[in-house]
Amino acid sequence: MSMVTGAGSGIGRAIALLFASEGSKVVVTDVNDKGGEETANMIRGNGGDALFVHADVSRASDCENAVREAVKRYGQLDILVNNAGIDLPRAKPSADFSEDEFDKVISVNLKGAWLMSKYAIPEMLRRSKGIIVNIASVAGIRPLPLAMPYSVSKAGLIMLTKSMAVEYGNRGIRVNAIAPGWVSTPMAVRAASAYGTTYEEFTKQFLQRIPLGRFADPTEIAKVVLFLASDDSSYMNGAVVVVDGAISIA
Ligand code: NAD
Repeated sequence: MSMVTGAGSGIGRAIALLFASEGSKVVVTDVNDKGGEETANMIRGNGGDALFVHADVSRASDCENAVREAVKRYGQLDILVNNAGIDLPRAKPSADFSEDEFDKVISVNLKGAWLMSKYAIPEMLRRSKGIIVNIASVAGIRPLPLAMPYSVSKAGLIMLTKSMAVEYGNRGIRVNAIAPGWVSTPMAVRAASAYGTTYEEFTKQFLQRIPLGRFADPTEIAKVVLFLASDDSSYMNGAVVVVDGAISIA
């Protein structure tokens, strides 16, 4: 049984759908009830088994409740994908961000992944078995221009991944991260407006810098998550898998 946070849209939805098509029961969580219910209904429509639970990952009580509901319904929690994330409404230099803007991004992108893990790990330890995959970003390795709080949150998520991998590896839990480059989702569309440009201009500008010449499709990230969530990656722990069409090294 797997839980995917922020599964009501974009990459999270693609992960939830792929997991379900591989036979996993999926707990879809999101702060957006409409999107979350839609994903769960898509899974059920394809003959799968899904439960939607409203959860704002930045709230401890929501995370605790989501894990409780997942275990109540399916008896166990095998896989957690910490995918929920937010971007910044406007691109600007570090000193221009407000305290609120900084706190918000850190509390969802970084604290949220820790909080959901905090409540999922005891369930995994109960069976000495579990897998956590964190959706970071290449922004956590190389700063995204004019997006310091986002980049810092993703760098923190990478260190959260490594810390938990070292602590829990010998107790049956593997923790890995994926660092995507640009992916065609609503977040990428919002990023264009944060940079004060249209999505068309934005993609044109970034496409020139991506050696593969295109943004990723969410399913191309989901397939790597599936690999990290399967026994095929049994010796991977604490890794950061870059899936970015080589933009971060170009
Ligand atoms: P998206 O906006 O399409 O989806 C994000 C989902 O997270 C939404 O359904 C949203 O409601 C949910 N969410 C937001 N705040 C939440 C909260 N507090 N609690 C629970 N759910 C919440 O974006 P996406 O592109 O699919 O992003 C998914 C993840 O991938 C994010 O962590 C993002 O930072 C990361 N990422 C995206 C890209 C990209 O180019 N799109 C690149 C690298 C990494």
